[in-house]
Amino acid sequence: MRVFHSPKYTADLGEHVMPIRKFDLVRRALEEQALALEFLEPAPATDEDLLRVHTAEYVRAVATGEPRALAESQKFPWSARLAEAVRFTSGGCIAALYAALEDGVAGNLASGFHHAHADHGEGFCTFHGLVVALERARHDGRLERGLVVDLDVHYGNGTASLLATRPNLFALSLYGSWYKANTASRDVDTERAPDTDNSWSVPVANGTDGAGYLALLEEHLPRALERAKPSVILYQAGADPYREDPYSPLDLGVTDLYERDRRVFEAAKRAGIPIAWVLAGGYTKDVSKVVAVHANTARAALEVFGA
Ligand SMILES: [Zn+2]
Repeated sequence: MRVFHSPKYTADLGEHVMPIRKFDLVRRALEEQALALEFLEPAPATDEDLLRVHTAEYVRAVATGEPRALAESQKFPWSARLAEAVRFTSGGCIAALYAALEDGVAGNLASGFHHAHADHGEGFCTFHGLVVALERARHDGRLERGLVVDLDVHYGNGTASLLATRPNLFALSLYGSWYKANTASRDVDTERAPDTDNSWSVPVANGTDGAGYLALLEEHLPRALERAKPSVILYQAGADPYREDPYSPLDLGVTDLYERDRRVFEAAKRAGIPIAWVLAGGYTKDVSKVVAVHANTARAALEVFGA
């Protein structure tokens, strides 16, 4: 399985709640497990790629650092290195999507950054790698319809807002329903967009355990596949639904999240739809737990698809 990663994904954020070095740690953990993975470096996303999804003013702000408030709207300190890093993480989404179209499955060791909007960032998300990748593939004539399966604990508000003008792209977001009350993540717009014909959200009740979560997934994922009829799935595999995560109101263990991943991959395989997985949120203080959940996503993909 091809997995995309680059040391350039990481910028120095100083002391920050976002453990951005986890991208490198997940790579190392996967190498230590000697799995059947081929690690590749992606090309960075181009201006053209970004401008299909983001406004020129915002892309320029992130590139130059000015105006600073806009360049830092995702709540990261701006640096030239950060401006480069967010091009590479989006490039990784593009590369993983293309590899999945060829091989059936592929991964990117960075987030899809589902809180990013057209004209600003939010919640540690600068550019929306998932929609950037889908729009690139649509532009290249490689796909008609795509589905984002977002199992980060936060609602994918950036995805929903970007999909409002993109009827051929679809999103399913299962999220922790304390969202509005979660003052710890108030950097993210807590007003959920209403569901539309192509963007669906499922609130998961506080305290939901593995069995309850998997039942919701089994209920809503087939429905999303049926309605979206996608030619590719982008799977945003958040580590922040984990029970020890400061943002999580759910009672999910590492094994539950592995089972979550396995079921998403099985559904894709059963339907014959290529799937590219990416990482997402994960803020547990003991970063080794975050790394374990993310590394398990690769293991689940290999278990379902083989090498
Ligand atoms: Zn999250």
